[in-house]
Amino acid sequence: MPERTSTPEVAAAASSTTAPSAAAVRSGASASATGAPPFTPLEQQALEHIWIHTARWLDLAERDGLRVLVRGDGCRLWDARGRVYLDSLAGLYVVNVGHGRREIGDAMARQAGELAYVSAASYTSLPAVQLGEVLAGLTPGDLNRFFFCSGGSEAVETAMKIAKQIQAMRGFPKRYKIIARVGGYHGATFGAMSITSSHNETYFGPFMPGVSFVPSPDRYRRRFGLGGEAEDLACADAIDYEIRAQGAETVAAVIGEPISAANNTHVPSPRYWQRVREICDKHGVLLILDEVINGFGRTGTMFATEKFGVVPDLMTMAKGLSSGYAPIGAVAVRDGLYNEFKQKDVGLAHLLTFGGQAVSCAAALANLDIRRREELPRRTAENGPYLLEQLESLRSHPTVGDVRGSGLLCAVELVQNKETKEPFGWGPAAAAHPFSRRLVAAMDERGLFGRVFMSIQISPPLIITRAEIDRMVAMIDESLTVAEREFGFA
Ligand code: PLP
Repeated sequence: MPERTSTPEVAAAASSTTAPSAAAVRSGASASATGAPPFTPLEQQALEHIWIHTARWLDLAERDGLRVLVRGDGCRLWDARGRVYLDSLAGLYVVNVGHGRREIGDAMARQAGELAYVSAASYTSLPAVQLGEVLAGLTPGDLNRFFFCSGGSEAVETAMKIAKQIQAMRGFPKRYKIIARVGGYHGATFGAMSITSSHNETYFGPFMPGVSFVPSPDRYRRRFGLGGEAEDLACADAIDYEIRAQGAETVAAVIGEPISAANNTHVPSPRYWQRVREICDKHGVLLILDEVINGFGRTGTMFATEKFGVVPDLMTMAKGLSSGYAPIGAVAVRDGLYNEFKQKDVGLAHLLTFGGQAVSCAAALANLDIRRREELPRRTAENGPYLLEQLESLRSHPTVGDVRGSGLLCAVELVQNKETKEPFGWGPAAAAHPFSRRLVAAMDERGLFGRVFMSIQISPPLIITRAEIDRMVAMIDESLTVAEREFGFA
């Protein structure tokens, strides 16, 4: 079980447990009936009022899966019962500088006291200008213009709209199609969901028209049966084929994550992205690279794009931009593209009320300052190979098919059969398999917060120490052993 602590706030919360309310019992939240400890008042309120985004009710209410977190420090999190967890996912690939960085909160408070909001339609603010300046110094090539928004999905929606408007302004109003990649994830709003291949047709279809999906690099399962760089290049050529098949005169943009965490963190050859860049240029198609997870040092360089030696036309970012201290995202745009708006004296038909919100920009600035002072991309480049080396030891498990990653973005791919590579499910569906669920529970019991889809996804805060890496890998190792034994693999 997770270690317990006695900080004043968690001790108070832990000591005041209570039986579920009548409302909760009526709706099936009778934790005491299932042998789980009774809920604290805080947990009770959470059960009654909070919609935890993708969680299932019985998991929260009956299977001891509700966690109300009350404090964070570095890579550790405390819940309302005083249990402490190691965070192997940086929240959700977000908290790069670690939890509990008071200086970010102080910067936000100062900005809120000075000026919290100006209309995003007509004005900008001091921290937004400063953030644009800092970002222009970090992004590759001539990605010097920033459209601010509130998160990754909005950044993706914005990038697609910029791409479509530019194509129309260039005289190609029929270039509206987007080519995305199988297994990629770009968000939950309608357009972003439409270019995410695992979208739920039953509940949300039909989707945005004009979207098609092409294979993306996977040297483990080898869609083209080639392996290595040849496999990656065959995937790049599939984009060329798809643009021709759709008719180049109808395609606005190609989008992909440089290294797709959603697609289990396959790291392609630089030549893959270079070839995709050439293909887009040849056909007059814009290239959008989605750095929402990859950006700000996660893969050991400031942006993963740098590893591959390409400059996209549009680059989306969020998560690590503020390390989660405030909601903020952005689209970085090449000078040449923005010049087209300048020359034609046309505005972008797109307004988001909270874009560039001053307190969020102040949070991002303070976060990026920590990143600079603590040299997080460089430390990640050093600790990443160490993490991967430790994870390699898991290959002896009967369910571990592959281990791979870049920087502190790693995946341990799980299979039912190493010979056939049969997964526990395809894409996010794998998370529902009883084995995956047991594995997550076993990790939780040991005090590790983690995520299991087709792979165990590992993306801790970039400030993680080697001792914490060792503990994290040991807990994954033990959890695999437990789940494998119970499911008859060992
Ligand atoms: N793009 C990528 C690559 C992502 O991983 C995500 C979220 O995980 C998004 C976009 C959507 O970001 P958000 O959840 O902030 O809207």
